[in-house]
Amino acid sequence: MKIYQKFIMTAVLFGLFFSFCACSSAVEKIVPAVAPVLPKSVTLIAAGDNILHNTVYNSAKTAEGYRFQAMYDSVEPIISAADIAFINQEAPMSSLHEPSSYPTFNSPQEIATDLLAVGFDVFNLANNHMMDKGVKGVLSTLNYLDTLPVHIIGAFASEESRKQPVILTKNGVTVGFLGYTYGTNGITIPKDKPYLVGLIDDDILRTEVSALRSQCDFLIVSMHWGDEYHHQPNDEQKRLAQLLAELNVDVVIGSHPHVIQPMEYLTSANGHRTLVVYSLGNFISSQNKVDTMLGGLLYVKLTKASDGYCFIAQSGLLPTVTHYDNSYHEFKIYPLDNYNESLSKKHRLFIKGQTLLNPTYLQQLAQEIWRDNIIGFDELSNKFAPINVEPLV
Ligand SMILES: [Zn+2]
Repeated sequence: MKIYQKFIMTAVLFGLFFSFCACSSAVEKIVPAVAPVLPKSVTLIAAGDNILHNTVYNSAKTAEGYRFQAMYDSVEPIISAADIAFINQEAPMSSLHEPSSYPTFNSPQEIATDLLAVGFDVFNLANNHMMDKGVKGVLSTLNYLDTLPVHIIGAFASEESRKQPVILTKNGVTVGFLGYTYGTNGITIPKDKPYLVGLIDDDILRTEVSALRSQCDFLIVSMHWGDEYHHQPNDEQKRLAQLLAELNVDVVIGSHPHVIQPMEYLTSANGHRTLVVYSLGNFISSQNKVDTMLGGLLYVKLTKASDGYCFIAQSGLLPTVTHYDNSYHEFKIYPLDNYNESLSKKHRLFIKGQTLLNPTYLQQLAQEIWRDNIIGFDELSNKFAPINVEPLV
């Protein structure tokens, strides 16, 4: 019995010794061969409605053409620093039509190159003004944008181009985009060209979102929806947002109400989290209500973990103000943090007696709607600052 126990003991010790040797040699072999897989991230900035009323484009007119870039100067550092920057361009840019304003808009083509120069690289064209110059206006706009390094969503020249996925690849992460609008101001989309503008429709959303979902790490959907001048989303917006959450959309960028509406995270039945901003308000316009002067930039950091799991690592909203003077000049978008009282007293709306056009009221309004989702200009700028790594000594 004792001899048998000794034999077992010796065998176990031998086993342990050899397995230890085997493990150490395996470790020695594997460690240098496998590099650690690090998470990858993409930063996204999104702006709301870019509405060029005649007062806006007339103030940009020079002998050499329209020059809009200075209007975006104050927010340009944020926009250009983001990996991806989205904007809703609320009008066609047709070369076949003169620039025009409310009720049927056409923006000077220079706005496209100037938005690109500011850093925007995804233009949404699914909005209620896209048919303002008819089919020709949409096609002329698309022909022009085809010559520029920009990604277009929400309007298409053919059925084939509508089926082409819009997917941007940045830092090894793929981000897909889709865009839809509730309607086109009663101007009908021809029956033989149903592809022309993306219209909100449950079946279309289900089909197109599902088709793109499997092709990208993150899926962003622009929704032009809601009630104008209302600070809260209506029931239809909430229903559609939940539908998009169930379809595993990651971010819903809302626009159209001309004023800001809340941001929230929705969770689908299968546990997918969707970030929804119901309205980013106007980015630029010369509307004449105080609340329409307050808009914002959405900031999102999209992260793909080493195991492939994709999640929103950070999000926030930077409130912005559209400024213009008493003679409809000096159009400029300011981060609300940098909009002071002496400037606000030069705003046309303040001069015309709308004294709520002041930083205190705008701060209160932003706080009421966006609460702790608000991010300051400096804090947001720091997110894009290069990280200083101390050298190892
Ligand atoms: Zn609109």
